[in-house]
Amino acid sequence: MKVKLLGAARTVTGSCTIVEAAGHRFAIDCGLHQGNAEIDKRNWETDLYDPQRIEFLLMTHAHMDHSGLLPRLVKEGFKGPIYLTPPTAELLKIMLLDSAHIQESEAQWKSRKRRRHGEAEIDPLYTQKDAQDTFPLFSEVTYGTAFSPFPDLTVTFQDAGHILGAAMVELTVSEEGKTSRVVFSGDVGRPAQLLVKDPTWITAADFLFLESTYGSRNHKDEKGSLDELAEAIAYSHDRGQKVIIPAFAVERTQEMIYSLYLLAKDGRLPPDMPVYVDSPLAIKATEIFRKHRDYFDRDTQRILANGEDPLTLPQLRYTPSTRESIEINETEGPAVVISASGMADAGRIKHHLRHNLWREGASVVFVGFQAQGTTGRKIVDGAEKVRIFNEEVAVKARVFTINGFSAHAGRDQLLDWLGHFKAAAPRLFLVHGEYGAQQELAAQIKQRLGWEVSIPDYLEEVTLVADREPASVAYPEKAAPGIDWGFIIADMESRFAQLKERQKAVEAKGWVEQTELRDRVLEVNRTIAEILSEV
Ligand SMILES: [Zn+2]
Ligand SMILES: [Zn+2]
Repeated sequence: MKVKLLGAARTVTGSCTIVEAAGHRFAIDCGLHQGNAEIDKRNWETDLYDPQRIEFLLMTHAHMDHSGLLPRLVKEGFKGPIYLTPPTAELLKIMLLDSAHIQESEAQWKSRKRRRHGEAEIDPLYTQKDAQDTFPLFSEVTYGTAFSPFPDLTVTFQDAGHILGAAMVELTVSEEGKTSRVVFSGDVGRPAQLLVKDPTWITAADFLFLESTYGSRNHKDEKGSLDELAEAIAYSHDRGQKVIIPAFAVERTQEMIYSLYLLAKDGRLPPDMPVYVDSPLAIKATEIFRKHRDYFDRDTQRILANGEDPLTLPQLRYTPSTRESIEINETEGPAVVISASGMADAGRIKHHLRHNLWREGASVVFVGFQAQGTTGRKIVDGAEKVRIFNEEVAVKARVFTINGFSAHAGRDQLLDWLGHFKAAAPRLFLVHGEYGAQQELAAQIKQRLGWEVSIPDYLEEVTLVADREPASVAYPEKAAPGIDWGFIIADMESRFAQLKERQKAVEAKGWVEQTELRDRVLEVNRTIAEILSEV
């Protein structure tokens, strides 16, 4: 069996693993690559996926970094079944249309800009039509039900305890008379998370591909996290300002409503503080959650059985329309605003940050993982200013990073989950994590469990044979092409030298023209100073 990583290798986004086994070729997940412009380019490299030759897809869950490329693959010729759980199917029907809408708007915006520059227009990564064409391929499978896409393969989805309908994938493959069990963890949930159940324990596998998002960190406990949220609310309420919470529309938003419901019960959410859920997607997602109560954990079932609803609050206001969204920022006074995207680099949250980030007394509460390169990550890392809609915005609001609300297991929780393997140690591969975090987790696993651990790179191919050491082929030059800093810096030096030589010519220009040139040179100088402060 051969496994090739087309994403989430030494990084957290773009999950996609191509598997070749017993003469068949299929994939687990196909997520969007998210980060900076260079990472985004990977979304366009559809050739690498060879979609026409993928026979079927197994989807772990509805997060875009695991499923956001589905319409692209369909557009480029994928025609096979897409196996997923019923909640994942329902969530994806709203999320992929939303994602397609974002792709279309972005392409329109870029095309307008390109037309002004006399350049050709660009197509969206995929359209709403491509998303619609994806849905008929959905084939729903419930947790714990084994199915066989082809005779030598059995697949079982297990509850990953991450978001509604999220699954771990267990494969049993027979090849050349040998049978191997391969487990792909997908995203492993945090035990004791609100709403969803705890992740299923897996007790045996020959090969395990484990996520490692929080490989180097443990979460604060649930109570501490609620206390911190209450602190943010009290801080901004006292100062008549808003609490801004960037949150994914699906799962995270519902958990935040649930958390606010718990605070309200404790008298720690002032009744005069409206709570806005500013995301059209979140409204639809909440309805899907209500339909799948059987997926909720015992605590939630108990609250519901008592006739209460943890997904609602007296002061909760949904703002589906753009006009209502804008009105939030025109309204003075304290409020809680939950809006997407969760990493603050797209969607309505950008407007709320532009209106509030610079205000003393406001708070910004991060409750999810912030990937490298995103606006959210920059704020969490302590940036004094961030660029939003091409404008520098000062960070004066108080920033809270509460990872105790995470939908991912923390480091010790991952180690604990691994501790349930009963049989021989599985050959372990870490995926879906930043390299530093993965190395730390690998060291912990070796020390505590004595297991062999590999950390495959982007595009790496691993050959798995039962009872044999895996062989792997990496492509470092394609995974991270070298950047010729020597050339870039020498080129800059020569231009600066030329500018110096032409100082007299600059001084000979008219005064108004000189002031414009001065400002442009100062802008370059400022950029270089910023870069120097980062290295
Ligand atoms: Zn996820
Ligand atoms: Zn993920």
